[in-house]
Amino acid sequence: MLKTHSCGELRASYEGESVTLAGWVHRRRDHGGLIFIDLRDHDGLTQVVFNPKDAADAYAVGDAARGEYVLQVEGTVARRPKGTENPNLATGEIEVKAQAATILNEAKTPPFYIVEESDVDELLRLKYRYLDLRREGMHRAMMMRQRIIKFIRDWLMEREFVEIETPILTAPTPEGARDYLVPSRVQAGRFYALPQSPQQLKQLLMVAGFERYFQIARCFRDEDLRADRQPEFTQLDLELSFAEEEDVMRILEDLHADLAAAVRPDLKLVKPCPRLSHDEAVRRFGTDKPDMRFGLELVDLTEVLRDSEFTIFRQTVAQGGVVRAICVPGGAAFSRKQTDELTTFVQGYEAKGLVSLALLGEGGLDSLTQEEIRSPLAKYFTPEQAREMARLAGANRGDMFLMVADKPSTVNKALDGLRREIGQRLELADPNMLHFVLIYDFPLFEWNDEDERWYSVTHPFTQPRPEGVHLLESDPGAVHSRSYDLVCNGWELGGGSIRIHRREMQEQVFRILGIGPEEAQRRFGHMLEAFEYGAPPHGGFATGIDRTVALLAQQDDIREVMAFPKTKSATDPLTGAPGEVTSEQLAELHITVTDTEGATS
Ligand code: ASP
Repeated sequence: MLKTHSCGELRASYEGESVTLAGWVHRRRDHGGLIFIDLRDHDGLTQVVFNPKDAADAYAVGDAARGEYVLQVEGTVARRPKGTENPNLATGEIEVKAQAATILNEAKTPPFYIVEESDVDELLRLKYRYLDLRREGMHRAMMMRQRIIKFIRDWLMEREFVEIETPILTAPTPEGARDYLVPSRVQAGRFYALPQSPQQLKQLLMVAGFERYFQIARCFRDEDLRADRQPEFTQLDLELSFAEEEDVMRILEDLHADLAAAVRPDLKLVKPCPRLSHDEAVRRFGTDKPDMRFGLELVDLTEVLRDSEFTIFRQTVAQGGVVRAICVPGGAAFSRKQTDELTTFVQGYEAKGLVSLALLGEGGLDSLTQEEIRSPLAKYFTPEQAREMARLAGANRGDMFLMVADKPSTVNKALDGLRREIGQRLELADPNMLHFVLIYDFPLFEWNDEDERWYSVTHPFTQPRPEGVHLLESDPGAVHSRSYDLVCNGWELGGGSIRIHRREMQEQVFRILGIGPEEAQRRFGHMLEAFEYGAPPHGGFATGIDRTVALLAQQDDIREVMAFPKTKSATDPLTGAPGEVTSEQLAELHITVTDTEGATS
């Protein structure tokens, strides 16, 4: 090795030892006669002192070195003079007095500062990712990622889970996104799909008798990108046989609680992790991904306002719609401008409007008068109605209702958005808290108005709950599934289900999804057939590793915890992917490109 020690290793106990270090010039200071270089490597920083009186040749190297040059330094460990120790640095008690030094490589001036966490344009960061990864924040995130993956592997292997790799070149498996396709050269006109998940193969591993499988699996989905989505991402994929919901949810919960406690003992972990049925989550929070670090739960005011003097409320309810609200404690202090902004905000969620109502005055609510109701629609509310609303919401004087009336799905979406917005504005969510929640019992199907057919809420291999099976044909929308999701701080980390393991049931579900016997046979014949060879009852889950790491690293964007992510338009500015290929390559693959019009940069 070109070094005897790392730059993060030396302590006062090494005083007097001869060492050789190698790394990058992090900072260089010329103190007229003495040069100080903080030498950085993977492990940390060490201060090196170049003194022309001790070693003139080494000093000349220190003098020539610039930021990010790669140096090798031989020297002696010395205690720093009293008063110059740096308690913020692991090696802050010592320095290395250089006796010899070599420039192993020079470096151009980097396009952005490596030493500071300054804001740098994303494209530039990705183009020079190898420099971006030198920065402390990225380096720390990658190291945390490695600790998390190791923790997960150890935890599962201690519990008899077996890691098995599944292919990247595979057949399509439906997870609801578009596939990335790879043309086959030897099978003209045929394509592999990159796995959206190892779903089918992990189920087949259960049929194969591996009762506890997991994989840190790369998955690919061609869909619109957001802060929590990348075209390729890493999942913790897991499956076990002879398990029921409780068994899988227990693993999800315990693994993540133990992981959080091990990696971020400094964060507040809410234990035990609550469980909400899908219906309860939607009723209380308007969403199946609630951020439970704060209250502001939805209140249903439909009954109180069924006979409202306000036509829109009355008509909405008469047509099967609902009136729901969130009640903001102390919200009466919101200015007109603030409530106007919130109205515009909910309109972004397709709500037609937002009705505010504040309870003014002092004392118990029994004495609430008409004048103490402040609302643009005050005259349509009676004190009795306001009191009943307050009772339902547990509200007091000084609080403010923000109401939306519409069909339930629109109201829920708008109030979920509003709740998160107000949570953010009032800083209600503790940034140092991890609040996991398990959501279970999702509907099995959802109806799509546009193409007038049922879709799986999760994927077609999910088992219906037994009590709904008799409704599969007559009322598919009423059937719930044996599924669950893990959510933390409003982020869906992943989910899974108990699977169908019988051919007839799988065929029936395919049929409801509009996949007839022939298509089922062509696309999923291998699954249907495998179920006829003694498939055990089984279930599992997958969680996003990138999201888990981002959550524990307190980052909002998963790209901050991925070594080489893509831009929001799915390109890689570093390698230029996706790239062009030669016409020979295309011909070999039996492909003709007809149209590059739709290309985005
Ligand atoms: N395959 C599913 C997914 O990737 C998870 C599961 O059901 O295990 O979302």
